[in-house]
Amino acid sequence: MSDLTRLGAAELADRLAASEISSEEATRAHLERIAAADRDVHAFLHVASERAIETARAVDALRSSGESLGPLAGVPIAIKDVLCTHDMPSTSGSRILEGWVPPYDATVVRRLREAHLIPLGKTNMDEFAMGSSTEHSAFGPTRNPWDLERTPGGSGGGSAAAVAAFEAPLALGSDTGGSIRQPAALTGTVGVKPTYGGVSRYGAIALASSLDQVGPVSRSILDAALLHDVIAGHDPLDSTSIPDVWPSMADAARVGQRDDALRGLRIGVVKEIAGGGDGFQPGVRQRFDETVQLLGAAGAEIVEVSAPSFEYAVAAYYLILPAEASSNLARFDSVRFGLRVPPESGPVTVERVMAATRDAGFGAEVKRRIILGTYALSAGYYDAYYGSAQKVRTLIQRDFQAAFSQAHVLISPAAPTTAFGLGEKVDDPLAMYLNDLTTIPANLAGVPGLALPMGLAPEDGLPVGLQLMAPAREDARLYTVGAAVERLLEGEWGHRLLSRAPRLAQTEMFANEEGAV
Ligand code: GLN
Repeated sequence: MSDLTRLGAAELADRLAASEISSEEATRAHLERIAAADRDVHAFLHVASERAIETARAVDALRSSGESLGPLAGVPIAIKDVLCTHDMPSTSGSRILEGWVPPYDATVVRRLREAHLIPLGKTNMDEFAMGSSTEHSAFGPTRNPWDLERTPGGSGGGSAAAVAAFEAPLALGSDTGGSIRQPAALTGTVGVKPTYGGVSRYGAIALASSLDQVGPVSRSILDAALLHDVIAGHDPLDSTSIPDVWPSMADAARVGQRDDALRGLRIGVVKEIAGGGDGFQPGVRQRFDETVQLLGAAGAEIVEVSAPSFEYAVAAYYLILPAEASSNLARFDSVRFGLRVPPESGPVTVERVMAATRDAGFGAEVKRRIILGTYALSAGYYDAYYGSAQKVRTLIQRDFQAAFSQAHVLISPAAPTTAFGLGEKVDDPLAMYLNDLTTIPANLAGVPGLALPMGLAPEDGLPVGLQLMAPAREDARLYTVGAAVERLLEGEWGHRLLSRAPRLAQTEMFANEEGAV
């Protein structure tokens, strides 16, 4: 096994650009790593080995012909299975789409290909992105590379675990309530939910259309920024895509790597989600408090801000999300996509085939949310439930506005706990829902959020995540501040978290490997 898998995307890209290594070598190294590690981790639902090598060779040929290529050309990437790929199955973690190969690529996937990244395969996820542990996948859970008995978070546990286990330097995720940021927190990786409308949703299998955003997963802020630059930008195929021309997020991250990048920055600690409430693990709170102190000592001005409506964010989200999901998932009707199951007995009518298919094809969590959503939208209850939830959403947006009038960025823990055990919360929907306590407000308001590692919790030695949030359209600010915070915390805790890390290092997966840590 080559230690090419230990390099980040930016470092790989530099070596590729200097022709010190080929994309084929980089791709093979990651495919070998997947072959060694993924039996245990199960980050991937589909690995496209041959096609990846072919694509890498083609990119190497382009480079040797002198073609000028984008900054991430030749770098391998894993893709969450929520995204449509014309050459790989796209199941969204559901039995109902098992084996379905879409006729087209999601816009973000098309952009990856145009930028000459190398798709390695599709990553595991909770079914239709409903969940916080990847245990709701119809194809079995993903395990956390730091401790194989724990979950990597969810719904994008596959993308986060692939990056944490060095199976890919980069991945794409999707974040409706936290599915990029919470798994990042639980695996010690970086994950970004862009401003709503900043990245195209075209070809992303919809969960809740007013909340969904696609975003990058990586092991460093600069790597996430480089990927953000590839996927962002207006898409006429997505009616909610905003027409902004974005500044370079990679340049923004590089600004943050300079000395003194934190001086004069006003950072708002959001009282309601700062770790004081129920459900926060003491070690998460401790790391967060230390981080706030370090930021102050580095020249940032720390202000406490209050966002009283955040208290109702999870409740509002679990009305809005099921309402939108129940409508989006109506397309899985046994006629147009995937699975078709005839009724066990009796007449074969369209309705009965549809019912039998949806019964067999959807898992329990998906059914729970469809029922909740159709109920919340039903004539007699619409105002009481959906209408009230939308009002709360407006209050949350106002809280953000007020908070951003006092601070350039807001911070909180990215998740209330470190990685929890497989099976620990899977039968307790409410406990599962509370994992997104700190991430959901950003989705409801459409503002960008970024999760990055802030050391390990003293009680269990597992990664703790910090969340940064910025006003809508200020994604570049997140990368500047994120890079500055990353540098500060690495200096303080003396490690680039993952190079030291996963407990996988102690298992046979890394046995006989050079560069094992
Ligand atoms: N865990 C949240 C949920 O179950 C978030 C999901 C997501 O962001 N896709 O809805």
